Amino acid sequence: MIKVNNLIKIFTIGDNTLTALKKISFSVPSGQFLAITGMSGSGKSTLLYQLSLLDNPNQGTILIENVDTSLLTSEERISFRLKNLGYIFQDYAILPMLTAKENVMMPLLMQGVDENIAQKKAEEALSKVDLQDRLDNLPSQLSGGQQQRVSIARSIVHNPKILFADEPTANLDTESSEKVLDIFLNLHKQGQTIIMVTHEPEYAKLAERNIELRDGSIINETIQ
Ligand code: ADP
Ligand code: MG
Repeated sequence: MIKVNNLIKIFTIGDNTLTALKKISFSVPSGQFLAITGMSGSGKSTLLYQLSLLDNPNQGTILIENVDTSLLTSEERISFRLKNLGYIFQDYAILPMLTAKENVMMPLLMQGVDENIAQKKAEEALSKVDLQDRLDNLPSQLSGGQQQRVSIARSIVHNPKILFADEPTANLDTESSEKVLDIFLNLHKQGQTIIMVTHEPEYAKLAERNIELRDGSIINETIQ
């Protein structure tokens, strides 16, 4: 369902270049829960950015559901991403002036979904993350763990084919982290494909498969 071939990403800063991804190749079958691990600076976020079409690689191809994403125009990439992909950031990245429900409605409204339908779907998604009682709260009225769950609801509200999460528990206490992992495991049980970056071994172990990066290359792969 996702097939990565010889992916290369090079950053240029002034006269210096840094190859953050060095010819990465792997595939992720539909429904898999994959954890990407590795030390800080190993290229995890860079890889996730390319896979989720938030950035463009210098070389290589990413096939998602048989669509060669390198052939899409920038407008097509945006609409493909909005329709098919969900992304959870370490720092939640929800909008402070919008309520939980309004934040979750956002990706649907951006796709032109009718407002009443968007409201209903947002409420359903917020129930899935156990926030049905917090629909009208602003982010400032929610704990970090609750804000991250709003961000998860926003990332799943449009039933994405692939859910990406970049260190989703890095800013959370143990209890909130476990709640987030429980949500992922439940979504996975329902067939959701998940690609999660984490540097916490006990969370990586919960995934079906781990890929470890070092200096922009895959150095290890385990299936549990
Ligand atoms: P990780 O998420 O594993 O900590 P990153 O993917 O963020 O690692 O970074 C991989 C390497 O690429 C690092 O050396 C980092 O400094 C560099 N890098 C990441 N993003 C940029 C950027 N936008 N410009 C320049 N260098 C970057
Ligand atoms: Mg990172």
